[in-house]
Amino acid sequence: MIEVDEARGFVLERLTALESVRVTLAEALGCVASEPIVATEPVPGFRNSSMDGYAVRSADTADGPVRLRVVGIVLAGDVPERRLEAGEAMRIMTGAPIPEGADAVCMIEETTDEPADHSVLISRVLEEGQFVRFPGDDIAVGQPLIASGSVVTGAQIGVLASQGLSSISVHRRPRVGVLSTGDELCGNGGILAEGKIRDSNRPMLLALLHESGFTPIDLEIASDDIEEITARLSRGVSECDAVIATGGVSVGDVDFVKSVLADICEGTARWMQVAMRPGKPFAFGTAGQGSTPVFGLPGNPVSTRVSFEMFVRPALRRLAGHRVLERTTINMVLDCPMPRKPDGKLHLVHVDSRMHADGRMHIESASRHGSHLLNAVAKANALAMIPDGNGLVPGDIVRTLLLNYEVND
Ligand code: AMP
Ligand code: MG
Repeated sequence: MIEVDEARGFVLERLTALESVRVTLAEALGCVASEPIVATEPVPGFRNSSMDGYAVRSADTADGPVRLRVVGIVLAGDVPERRLEAGEAMRIMTGAPIPEGADAVCMIEETTDEPADHSVLISRVLEEGQFVRFPGDDIAVGQPLIASGSVVTGAQIGVLASQGLSSISVHRRPRVGVLSTGDELCGNGGILAEGKIRDSNRPMLLALLHESGFTPIDLEIASDDIEEITARLSRGVSECDAVIATGGVSVGDVDFVKSVLADICEGTARWMQVAMRPGKPFAFGTAGQGSTPVFGLPGNPVSTRVSFEMFVRPALRRLAGHRVLERTTINMVLDCPMPRKPDGKLHLVHVDSRMHADGRMHIESASRHGSHLLNAVAKANALAMIPDGNGLVPGDIVRTLLLNYEVND
């Protein structure tokens, strides 16, 4: 057996970020920027009002409440009709340009209109610049907006749009093929023949890929047949940036994925027995002209899920150009017993975790054990790493990988 870190290292060493492409802002969400972006336009672009109210000359208000002549109105999107002279005010809406001559805005709540004589009472003393947004307040020309290697967020897409940009260079989002293998597998719906089971790995992996920001490609199901596995995997290798196969990597009589991987990966493949539970058997190699990574995961659905988290997701994040490959790992307080026996392996247990009033994350319950018990782990939001030994007891601290905190309800 080899340690988890060694197996992960073997995979990661062989991968680099995919090439850059230009994509629309909408397509860039969650991708990794491949070039820095520097501001070319100031934001705001001109002096404008941050309130609905009256644009005034602050000096006119220096002695307290003052009545000013209303000489017009300026709405967002308008250009002021004229400059403001002493003793004058202009009605102004949020976002509208401040007229020349004005240097402050009095909010509408602190004014009293006198429509009859076109005047307004300004009830307070205003400082120069009050409720005025200045050019470059938010973004100055030349200011770095996105560094190469950083992840594009929704708010950053707003920033780029505020610069008039409609596209950005990012590392290509990996297209990832998913193949299920096994004579027992039945695809979508329908009546199950005796001895058959429904394919849950493929829909799960396709969804996990999507959830992680990759483009899933369905390579369907191959029976336990060397030629069929070879054909479907080869198709995946030529069409995708990475391929995941499940089933057939253990030591069973028809576990052919291992040997097909060795064949199509021409000597780069390695079959590993990883010191972890679940997910001990794991195969990895690179195939084809583009050295496409191919992952062979064990067929048990919980093992598939755990192996995806431990090996596949970090590897795909490297292809996508991410610098942070791993999920956030937190030392959590154990509130339930976590029994185990020494077996030389790291045990990865699906758990429910939650922030407690003490400001620490607590593990409230652990799922039932069994690599075939997918339903028992499906709602868990974290993976606790129980080191080799005799287990842990309530109050112990345990390193835990946070899977999807928001999902906990
Ligand atoms: P294998 O890794 O091929 O030996 O399969 C291990 C276990 O996982 C067996 O009980 C399989 O029937 C089951 N299994 C394999 N592939 C899938 C799948 N795609 N969906 C659900 N269970 C599977
Ligand atoms: Mg099988």
